[in-house]
Amino acid sequence: MKYYILFGPPGAGKGTHAVAIAEKYNFKHLSTGELLRNEIAAGTELGIKAKKLIEAGSLVPDEVVEGMIESAFESIKGVNGFLLDGFPRTLAQAEALDKMLARKGEAISAVISIMIPDEIVKVRIAHRATVEGRADDASDEVINNRIRTYHSQTEPLIDFYKKAGKYHEVAGHPGTVEENQARVLRMVDGIV
Ligand code: ATP
Ligand code: MG
Repeated sequence: MKYYILFGPPGAGKGTHAVAIAEKYNFKHLSTGELLRNEIAAGTELGIKAKKLIEAGSLVPDEVVEGMIESAFESIKGVNGFLLDGFPRTLAQAEALDKMLARKGEAISAVISIMIPDEIVKVRIAHRATVEGRADDASDEVINNRIRTYHSQTEPLIDFYKKAGKYHEVAGHPGTVEENQARVLRMVDGIV
């Protein structure tokens, strides 16, 4: 089994491009953000706890997302690989993921990093707020907190995966969605 990580700041286009990559290579796309939004929609206990954190632009606890990912690995069959979108987001999550995979005799194959600057993050999320109506896209304060959280907690993963020799970066802007997707897919073709 192959395990790929789609990395990047909020609004980089991870979700959009993940769908195309997953379809092309028969990977299971696993978005922790989407899994959490499903829990909120279903009104589960986990969802109720996660909602407050997500809507403040903070991360949910590491154990919560680690558990969701591990149970997906156990239950999903019949794919060539997994494409992780929005996980890991902290060093502790990255280390937990390595351990989880090592127990199965597996490892991360590569990290595909889609990079956009903070100014573009703000423009993209402001636009998405008008289309998708996500509560965590709606206020500047929350968006700024997510950008801060990305820099302080998630960005250190770049060095972690560079040291592991697994880090590959592609620009997530400028251009149309189609142009960006073509660039991302060209890059992924060279890795997978
Ligand atoms: P993108 O637009 O690139 O898909 P995003 O950052 O806008 O990314 P999601 O990945 O859907 O959105 O995440 C939404 C929220 O869910 C995060 O801000 C965070 O609160 C929570 N979340 C998602 N993944 C994790 C994770 N791995 N660890 C902790 N919290 C997470
Ligand atoms: Mg997403």
